[in-house]
Amino acid sequence: MPAVREHVDKAPTRQDKADKPLSAPQKAMRRLGLDSDMDLALHLPLRYEDETRLMAIAELRDGDLAQVEGVVRDNRVEVRARRQLIVRIEDEAGHTLLLRFLNFYPSQQKLLAVGQRVRVRGEVRGGFLGREMVHPECKAVQAGAPLAQALTPVYPTTAGLPQAYLRKAVGRALDKLVLDETLPPQALQSWPGGPQVLADWPLHAALDYLHHPGPEVSLAALQDRSHPAWLRLKAEELLAQQLSQLQARQAQAQRRAPALRIRPGPDDQGLHERLLAVLPFALTAAQRRVSEEIAQDLARPSPMHRLLQGDVGSGKTVVAALAAAVCIDAGYQCVLMAPTEILASQHVKKLVDWLTPLGVRVAWLAGGQKTKERRETLEAIARAPEQGGAQLIVGTHAVIQDKVHFHKLGLAIVDEQHRFGVAQRLALREKVRSDQGANSDGSGGEDGEEPHMLMMSATPIPRTLAMSYYADLDVSTLDELPPGRSPIVTRVISEQRRPELIERIRAQLAEGRQVYWVCPLIEESEAVDLTNATATHAELTAALNHGQPASPRGGEGGIQVGLLHSRLPPPEKQAVMAEFVAGRMGLLVSTTVIEVGVDVPNATLMVIEHAERFGLSQLHQLRGRVGRGAQASACVLLYSTGDAPRLGQTARERLKAMAETNDGFEIARRDLEIRGPGEFLGARQSGAALLRFADLATDGVVLDWARQTAALMLARYPALAERHVARWLGGRVDYLKA
Ligand code: ADP
Ligand code: MG
Repeated sequence: MPAVREHVDKAPTRQDKADKPLSAPQKAMRRLGLDSDMDLALHLPLRYEDETRLMAIAELRDGDLAQVEGVVRDNRVEVRARRQLIVRIEDEAGHTLLLRFLNFYPSQQKLLAVGQRVRVRGEVRGGFLGREMVHPECKAVQAGAPLAQALTPVYPTTAGLPQAYLRKAVGRALDKLVLDETLPPQALQSWPGGPQVLADWPLHAALDYLHHPGPEVSLAALQDRSHPAWLRLKAEELLAQQLSQLQARQAQAQRRAPALRIRPGPDDQGLHERLLAVLPFALTAAQRRVSEEIAQDLARPSPMHRLLQGDVGSGKTVVAALAAAVCIDAGYQCVLMAPTEILASQHVKKLVDWLTPLGVRVAWLAGGQKTKERRETLEAIARAPEQGGAQLIVGTHAVIQDKVHFHKLGLAIVDEQHRFGVAQRLALREKVRSDQGANSDGSGGEDGEEPHMLMMSATPIPRTLAMSYYADLDVSTLDELPPGRSPIVTRVISEQRRPELIERIRAQLAEGRQVYWVCPLIEESEAVDLTNATATHAELTAALNHGQPASPRGGEGGIQVGLLHSRLPPPEKQAVMAEFVAGRMGLLVSTTVIEVGVDVPNATLMVIEHAERFGLSQLHQLRGRVGRGAQASACVLLYSTGDAPRLGQTARERLKAMAETNDGFEIARRDLEIRGPGEFLGARQSGAALLRFADLATDGVVLDWARQTAALMLARYPALAERHVARWLGGRVDYLKA
């Protein structure tokens, strides 16, 4: 039987209807993204106004938000400090209330004519002349006119879109929408709050209620979103998200990728085995486990889509190198993309150190390369590995530019993937897919094959977030640090103790250790950042060298103090980094360009100035630069309250979290608590695709239900599943897959 297609939830958009120009409120609705009836139905009130009862004027108290009915006894325009309309109304009991309008129209004067019966709503103030309301809402009524039966919704709106217009539009949309049940009976039954909850609140009833709750409603239950109508919405929203991600995963399994297998040892030793043999350390158990997970994925003929998460310093690079080795050994190319040049070049260095002695050809691709060098690199990337082409390509997002054509890409690795925007990640996936099999000479990967993808992140994603936003990803976790690291002690101290701190730095340097000093982050202006960093550099150089002048690479003889900031040309940056890495530079002053991933085990102290201005995960990542060797390490968070008497609440929570734990997962959990998932995810979920109703910090139980229900529906009720996703996500599904 053909599917019945009458119940189309998405009404035609206003644009389809006619080519009539849009009115101002219609344009404003567009701007708010309110195109379909479903969009309007999901545009929930910010709050409600209670027009369901009247108060007697005698009962009114200062600050009450009240509705009063009375007859106008007096109406005149007075000029006091300025021209104003003053109206006096009297209620049944004979008490009077003043209404005052500083701006008014003739129409208002007419509405408030003497003898007219009106209902007015507003905030009560004890004015000079007795109780009054300033600019109340007024409407004319007949005696005994019925009161509203439900609370009146107040919607989020924008310029040019009056509440009344929006209320009507939402009301019409709700009337028109036909929202038949998309949840199968088992799904209703299995709801953790009891089998009747969702059944009693079908979607349409829930929406009607949230727009127009009865006067008896517990406003608290609406506020904290625990009312069953809210639960229905959250359940449906999370279900839609889980369904779309499961669909993405199923689609993924249908696609083809080269099966890349580890060549066995010991006689005919593969690259993977040879790399293991030359590493200067033994893998941790966690590294062995995740490498095994990755190897199993690579050996399958469908593309891997795996997230490798591990705290800063957990050793992700070597895991990436081992995966690359498997890929290269199988005759395919591997690309590694890093968010910044410093980070990318560090990778090259490490990978080059490990892999070139084993005969692997590594190519480097970044923004600032010379034309000739770049052309040669591009040629090497486009050439077959067996004919001398590049086998491992490392670079910044330069690797996803149009001019780059991989000959035969088997594996794409994205380091610090959370630092790339959605658009860049989508671009990489599109790029690596479309390049495959597109070689004109018919060489390259087989038709329709696409590369495997490994994403790495140092910001561990809390479980609920991983389940909801990354449900189409497999996740491997490095939950163990390499041995011999001593824990980092973190202290939060006031800016006033700076002199003490400088003594401490001197002591560290005297012991041959190295120190990072991170300068304040000033969002508005890079120029101010720079001035600050330069001044700090001069100050510290002078303090540590007893007054000798500062140079960016440090002075001769004395203690070298380096300066690193974003305005330095890349070669200069790398020269400064090289001095620090080589241990010739004792102190490195830097704006936040000391990137995640920089690795100097001899650095044992990190000072972060104005730590109160940094985000929690950023602080944690910066701190991860120390504690990489066997020496005891410390991180000092310097804060300044500026002119304020105390630190703000969230800043205090962040610094406290830093002092209390070194565990990246715990930090991520607290970060989620402090910031909420929208900010936490950053660019991954831009606008539309973010959850609007469910809150991952509190709705873990709903998420579990949604996950199970999504699996059930895809297996047994595919038509319902499809309807559900279309209703909730419309055309927005793509972004969820980035
Ligand atoms: P991240 O996960 O932050 O990218 P890295 O890959 O940069 O961490 O590794 C941090 C440091 O630990 C590097 O110096 C690396 O060589 C070292 N390392 C990695 N794995 C081990 C191990 N199993 N034993 C000892 N040191 C290791
Ligand atoms: Mg790293």
